[in-house]
Amino acid sequence: MKRIGIITLALLFALAVTPIVQARTFVTIGTGGVTGVYYPTGGAISRIINKKSKEYGIKATVESTGGSVYNINAVLTGDLEFGIAQSDRQYQAVHGTAEWQNRGAQEKLRSVFSIHPESITLIAAADSGVTDVKSLKGKRVNIGNPGSGQLQNSKDVLGAFGLSEESVDAEYVKAVEAPGLLQDERLDAFFYTVGHPNGNISEATSGRIKVSLIPIVGSPVDELIAKHPYYAKSVIDIKNYPTAINEKDVESVGVKATLVTSADVSDDVVYAITKEVFENFEEFKKLHPAYSVLTKKDMLAGMSAPVHPGALKYYKESGLVEYVNKDLIK
Ligand code: GLU
Repeated sequence: MKRIGIITLALLFALAVTPIVQARTFVTIGTGGVTGVYYPTGGAISRIINKKSKEYGIKATVESTGGSVYNINAVLTGDLEFGIAQSDRQYQAVHGTAEWQNRGAQEKLRSVFSIHPESITLIAAADSGVTDVKSLKGKRVNIGNPGSGQLQNSKDVLGAFGLSEESVDAEYVKAVEAPGLLQDERLDAFFYTVGHPNGNISEATSGRIKVSLIPIVGSPVDELIAKHPYYAKSVIDIKNYPTAINEKDVESVGVKATLVTSADVSDDVVYAITKEVFENFEEFKKLHPAYSVLTKKDMLAGMSAPVHPGALKYYKESGLVEYVNKDLIK
């Protein structure tokens, strides 16, 4: 009897001290095509947070998707917890323009931080006759898949030069397919809004067909930038693509990649991801050459949606809040 009592006590004690296995929170980050920069960026963020999975109980995974617009919409429906999206697309979702025109302002969208700069990249086969935006008229041009960030950028650039998707022979395929189509001579040119360097443009420039990056410059561009606050001038360093036939760096129009989430995602999860990326900033920067120019301050510029309270908690405790646009603190 005494013995059974001791065993029972011992069992009870063992149960009491066994730590409750922490519930795992699974989060998925929507990215882009596997040859772009969003996909490895999702990988970089996941890697940083998964290293602390014991501490936070978070397991992050990455999904290859159609791009910015797809990611914003999937975050809003709750199909994804996080998504990478162009700063211009974030602005449009918040203001209910472009793809969100008929659905109005997307109130649940929240920003976490900005990431690398992206350039509207126009690339053409050397013998296609495409030397500038105007000469795209009548050419076979991939302007971007529905769901991508670049689709609206291509339309804006064409529009700035008095062209439209109707004045080119427009294709709407995913960026991942475009280099192969260009090299197979089934496309004359394609647009891709992307950070540099990336595997997609390397692939497009290193095949049998000679190709060049086409500058997007001139007074129509100045007007476009004056009209839309989310566009800025950018330069693509041609050293990234030694087999392209360009001799000089390529001037273009730029936006920023940003990380977005929904107001429905918990503060703890957003706090943990924000904190780990910023506290391991030097390690994060080494994960992709497109981040080489990044500063913490840059990562707090270019957002349009209210900052998620979980991210804000970290910006407050780290003092970085001074760089956050006050209008985004709700
Ligand atoms: N900017 C592209 C988009 O929003 C994706 C670029 C990338 O995957 O790096 O669709």
